[in-house]
Amino acid sequence: AAAGAAPAAKLEDADALIDSVETFIFDCDGVIWKGDKLIDGVPETLDLLRSKGKRLVFVTNNSTKSRKQYGKKFETLGLSVDEEEIFASSFAAAAYLQSIDFPKDKKVYVIGEEGILKELELAGFQHLGGPTDGDKKIELKPGFYMEHDKDVGAVVVGFDRYFNYYKVQYGTLCIRENPGCLFIATNRDAVTHLTDAQEWAGGGSMVGAVLGSTKQEPLVVGKPSTFMMDYLAKKFGITTSQICMVGDRLDTDILFGQNGGCKTLLVLSGVTSLQTLQSPDNSIQPDFYTNQISDFLTLKAA
Ligand code: PLP
Ligand code: CA
Repeated sequence: AAAGAAPAAKLEDADALIDSVETFIFDCDGVIWKGDKLIDGVPETLDLLRSKGKRLVFVTNNSTKSRKQYGKKFETLGLSVDEEEIFASSFAAAAYLQSIDFPKDKKVYVIGEEGILKELELAGFQHLGGPTDGDKKIELKPGFYMEHDKDVGAVVVGFDRYFNYYKVQYGTLCIRENPGCLFIATNRDAVTHLTDAQEWAGGGSMVGAVLGSTKQEPLVVGKPSTFMMDYLAKKFGITTSQICMVGDRLDTDILFGQNGGCKTLLVLSGVTSLQTLQSPDNSIQPDFYTNQISDFLTLKAA
């Protein structure tokens, strides 16, 4: 359903939904796992969908790991998922640079963690920054300025637990002073759930710092932007109306599906409560909602 359309319907006939699409895109945190814990019934649900010949794709806005590292995480959780089926926002940043033929003699400055560095390396891009810049202090040159690399042609910003003033200033200098330098954000999630006890500042906070100093809007490659949807639709040759996007978050997952023209299913196993979904303040209505994806195993037409 488009934004502002009819309120989400409670999913009652899972078979009808499954039969109506050829591909399921699953968001990861809140749908497949919560932190490091597998959500109940996920292996059986994925097995059911695969046995029905559905293509499964996994998309996460968490840029801290590469798709290879996510492959290991799926394996550790006992899920058999191919690396090629995983689209993390770290991978999306590298795929975006490839899609625009970003020059290999230019460099990428990274405010973010290891996943982004690994994906840039695999794609053959030169990079600097990353977690090790977390220890750096600003060194003033005579004349009281900080040096930066004039060959940086893109700054990629993602979630970064080693964030500091050095990095913001470095990224700011690149964006403001290097002609044509791109500002790319892996995602803008306001908060994330590193632990269940509270909400934690998400990737949007690091992106916000660079936005604040450059006054430039970033190009977002993660959800809800259409980049990853276009990329995977093209890669697999899928029509987006044949996709059901399943996620736990309205302003990333459900909007991502709606922006792409997919069917959308909200699960309540993550960050969104039924109360939030049904609040008059919420304008993002998925086609359907249900408690968790294992409901696919039990919700059959009467
Ligand atoms: N960003 C960070 C840093 C996270 O820790 C998480 C969830 O764990 C996310 C983003 C959102 O991930 P997903 O898109 O899989 O829900
Ligand atoms: Ca999620």
